[in-house]
Amino acid sequence: MQTFFTLKDLDVVGKRVLVRVDFNVPLDKKTNEITDDKRIRESLPTIKYLIEKNAKLILCSHLGRPDGKIVDSLRMDNVAARLQKLLNKKVKKLEDCVGISVKKEISKMDSGDIIVLENLRFHTEEEANDEIFSKQLSELADIYVNDAFGTCHRAHASTYGVTKYLKSAAGFLVEKELRVMGDAIENPDRPFIGILGGVKISDKIKVIESLLSKVDKLLIGGAMAFIFLKAQGKNVGKSIVEEGYLDLAKKFLRKSKIFLPIDVIIADNFDANANFKVVNVNDIPNDWAGLDIGHETIKNYKEILKNAKTVVWSGPLGVFEFEKFANGTREIAEYLSTLNAVTIVGGGDSAAAVEKFGFADKLTHVSTGGAASLEFIEGKKLQGIEALEESYKRETVSAVKSHD
Ligand code: AMP
Repeated sequence: MQTFFTLKDLDVVGKRVLVRVDFNVPLDKKTNEITDDKRIRESLPTIKYLIEKNAKLILCSHLGRPDGKIVDSLRMDNVAARLQKLLNKKVKKLEDCVGISVKKEISKMDSGDIIVLENLRFHTEEEANDEIFSKQLSELADIYVNDAFGTCHRAHASTYGVTKYLKSAAGFLVEKELRVMGDAIENPDRPFIGILGGVKISDKIKVIESLLSKVDKLLIGGAMAFIFLKAQGKNVGKSIVEEGYLDLAKKFLRKSKIFLPIDVIIADNFDANANFKVVNVNDIPNDWAGLDIGHETIKNYKEILKNAKTVVWSGPLGVFEFEKFANGTREIAEYLSTLNAVTIVGGGDSAAAVEKFGFADKLTHVSTGGAASLEFIEGKKLQGIEALEESYKRETVSAVKSHD
């Protein structure tokens, strides 16, 4: 059943369309150059569709964390320039995102023109979901489209407040993220295997609970594995463990679905050049920390994954940023790319890892949303989507009333 409008439901021809995109791209600390434009590229289907429909495109996004102040290095100029290059079409960047001068520029737009507004988070009102700021944004356009999956879990003015004033729809990227991940989680082909890694169990309690209720098996790696190993009574040396969660780990272990490493790569230091060795999980010395899963574990996990029909993965299986401890994450990413299965990577760091190792294009879906995809896997309703649903309800009720 349809619960919100999608782009193709709306008549956008010749209209001013405010599109909330996620242009929060990583920037080089020294040169301020964009180091990865994936997020811009992912928004192209929506942008190109609107250009084809002769809409007037007004794109808005945040970039970094300026916390309500103007920060020159976080202006949207580089982003607008990259978009112009990708589209091979003029993109105009404005100096603010609301106000008279912005309205004036928009009033001069022709069909098919593209404007990029200045960083939304130069205004504290954006993250505060301020009513007046939301209204000011809405006054720039006739229609609102949310294509910023990465911020859909936030109720900000540009993802939430603005939808109260404009007919609102999900863009193609948001639609795709929800469909692919929704199908995998709610209606998976089985066996359905979950893979969880990363640092903290505390960040992923809800994700673990949700996955345990849905998957057939849950494979654990990353630092998170060590609290489970400790819960089994093993010595984990200096590996990262959140002591306060031992009882919870024990409770999760009662479900026989959880699989843990059988060997790990340990280091004498948290350093790219640390000394390292592979040990059985029963033999971790006091002064060493586990930084990656070992070869036997990789072999075991591949065996479990062999017949999988659906795989959802969140969190790297080791410190993949250091070459010596990247093997587990890389090998599992590579193996997933060979499977005849729906393979989904969600969560910022594991997505970055599969991109880095070059397997992203060979997987079914790599989510653009870090925290948003985790909240989605948890089964939480994303606030930006809730806002689209409210808008849909208002529009459909008023359409019925005017028909009566
Ligand atoms: P998260 O944001 O919780 O998904 O964690 C991602 C981070 O976990 C990455 O930066 C990895 O370097 C880190 N990580 C993965 N495995 C380990 C480990 N065994 N020890 C310390 N950090 C790890």
